[in-house]
Amino acid sequence: MALNTPLRHLFDYRPPDGRDPAALVPGLRVEVPFGRRTLVGMLIECAAGSSLPAARLRAARAVLDTEPVLDATTFGLVRWAADYYHHPLGEAFAAALPAALRAGRPLIARETRFRLVPGGPEALAAAKRLGPRQRELAAVLLAHESLGAAELELLGAGVGEVVKAFLARGWIASFEVEPPAVAAPAGRPASGPVLTGAQAVAVREIGASLGGFAPYLLHGVTGSGKTEVYLRVIEQVLARGEQALVLVPEIGLTPQAVARFSSRFPVPLAVLHSGLADGERLAMWRAARSGAAPLVIGTRSAIFVPLARPGIVIVDEEHDSSYKQQEGFRYSARDLAVVRAQRHGIPVVLGSATPSLETLQQARSGRYRRVDLPQRTGSAGVPTMRIVDLRAHEDRHGIATPSMLAIRRHLGDGGQVLLYLNRRGFAPTLFCPGCGWAAPCSDCDARLTVHLRTHRLVCHHCGASQPVPFACPRCGAELRPVGQGTERIEDALDELFAGVPVVRIDRDTVHGRGEFETALERVHSGEARILVGTQMLTKGHDFPDVTLVVVLNADQGLFGTDFRASERLAQSIVQVAGRAGRATRPGEVLIQSACPEHPLLTQLLAAGYDGFAEVALAERAAAHWPPFSRLAVLRAEAASREQALAFLAAARDAAPAAERGPVRLLGPAPAAMERRAARYRAQLLLESADRAPLQRLLALWLPRVAQLPAARRVRWAIDVDPLEVA
Ligand SMILES: [Zn+2]
Ligand SMILES: [Zn+2]
Repeated sequence: MALNTPLRHLFDYRPPDGRDPAALVPGLRVEVPFGRRTLVGMLIECAAGSSLPAARLRAARAVLDTEPVLDATTFGLVRWAADYYHHPLGEAFAAALPAALRAGRPLIARETRFRLVPGGPEALAAAKRLGPRQRELAAVLLAHESLGAAELELLGAGVGEVVKAFLARGWIASFEVEPPAVAAPAGRPASGPVLTGAQAVAVREIGASLGGFAPYLLHGVTGSGKTEVYLRVIEQVLARGEQALVLVPEIGLTPQAVARFSSRFPVPLAVLHSGLADGERLAMWRAARSGAAPLVIGTRSAIFVPLARPGIVIVDEEHDSSYKQQEGFRYSARDLAVVRAQRHGIPVVLGSATPSLETLQQARSGRYRRVDLPQRTGSAGVPTMRIVDLRAHEDRHGIATPSMLAIRRHLGDGGQVLLYLNRRGFAPTLFCPGCGWAAPCSDCDARLTVHLRTHRLVCHHCGASQPVPFACPRCGAELRPVGQGTERIEDALDELFAGVPVVRIDRDTVHGRGEFETALERVHSGEARILVGTQMLTKGHDFPDVTLVVVLNADQGLFGTDFRASERLAQSIVQVAGRAGRATRPGEVLIQSACPEHPLLTQLLAAGYDGFAEVALAERAAAHWPPFSRLAVLRAEAASREQALAFLAAARDAAPAAERGPVRLLGPAPAAMERRAARYRAQLLLESADRAPLQRLLALWLPRVAQLPAARRVRWAIDVDPLEVA
């Protein structure tokens, strides 16, 4: 049995009393005693015996399923992923299942509902001395055909007693219903536009490979119509009677995105994301599993959804970092999509305007087939890109004079303007010119960010916050905000362009999916003329009337500590630039930088993302970074620096030289931000030219690491193929 615990081994149980072990197959959920608790585990295999003495072998309580909840391929995928990412198998299965199934609820949960019996209304009318709660329930029963748990909940606590009383009097009866199926969209499906030549080639090529494993990189510049290619290929998949699984980044799954798919296909659609209630999620998951929903769209964890008739996997915006789980079971849904497609024997399409260097290298080496959409659809031209040298121009509140003039010109021509700054809040920090005090976080190696709207200093790393002080706490001098945040830019725009409506999109103004929708609507309706925002603006949303994009501070990404910093900066610039001029008007992109001769910027401007990628890949090859090497990071966090480093040093020593082979162990070293949320963080980096020796070492080494006495004093985790090693 695999149990949802951090322990790295499986657990033995006797079959529940009276159950024939021959009828027990892998993939069934089984309820078992664990200490004093009861856990829901996943049956991995039935063994003939156990190494445990018979007296200590406990019996499982109950088998919860009549058939495996996961099909053999998905079951195998979870096992493979737990092996590859070296994560406890029980936790991996827990991450793969919807919460309702994890908690032991039945796969098909019937709902109990209540309705008035024939003659019930008359009996109620004749009943004397009903209390206020009883009268309330009677009124609701009369107004509805039947009531379920969700409706009854609205009547407040204690309603269960009233329902029981009504049942006892024979006024109402209960009955059970199957959960509602996922419905097909109403209305006639829309037809698509005429394909461009490049789109038609892409559709033909991918379509020709249906029925067999084939990995594709679909590299389409922004506005080139990647989604239309997905839709046409999905059309072919559905015509074959198969299912399509589409993965999208966390923030990309808006109702508009879903509507784009549902308006084209008259089939039930299962949508899976983190915002679903447990019951909804289970219903969607079941529709994918049974095949009732031929089209399944979801975020990261949807990679583990079982499919009855898999036909294709599509990963949109494959470069997006939300595909990598950053805590717990640290899997990459993008990479697992390729593994899964191979196991099913179906094509997988990784689509992006700015592919990750890993995926580009796979295409260069011929392992992935590459399909290009080099041109925007319609008449939209490629935006012109220019650098604004921050050293050569005056700036007002972070907006340089040439940018200001351009904003004025585009607004005057009726266009919308987008300002991108990857830093929220008012200013990155508060500084004392008297003594040099600079608002440190007491728990992190970081400065507190000024948020003037809420009048607080906030740590963006641990969340700690405090009121903005009136004067320097050390010397009493007047404090000054330093640098720019989106909040300050919004203020500056109010001053510089009085009366022009501005909408700010960042994590402070936009909390849920609903608020994001509202903000987008203000832009699409044309009510807002200027958009200011962070990374959130770069994620695949079209703003057809935006004609000018200003990247306010490109330099933040040029000098990042992480080896992927420049890749991320290039992706952000290209993605945000892609928002400009998508309708008929040509776009203009201004990039403000204090180091305009930086080779990355000049290469990006001269040769586009592909040109940048050539140079960046050459740099990675020379430095032995991925995709030219394989990495894993052992991270540790402890109350003191010594504990964290001592654990990592002991871990390093626990890997005997004979097993290391070609794997290099680098460190231990403190993390780039050593202290976060009052914990000291350090890491040991493992690097290998090839995957196999690294995997062999991890498999032998990690069980020993877990046994180290020093491991008890730290929180540690292994991250295979980490996104960051800083
Ligand atoms: Zn001071
Ligand atoms: Zn902090």
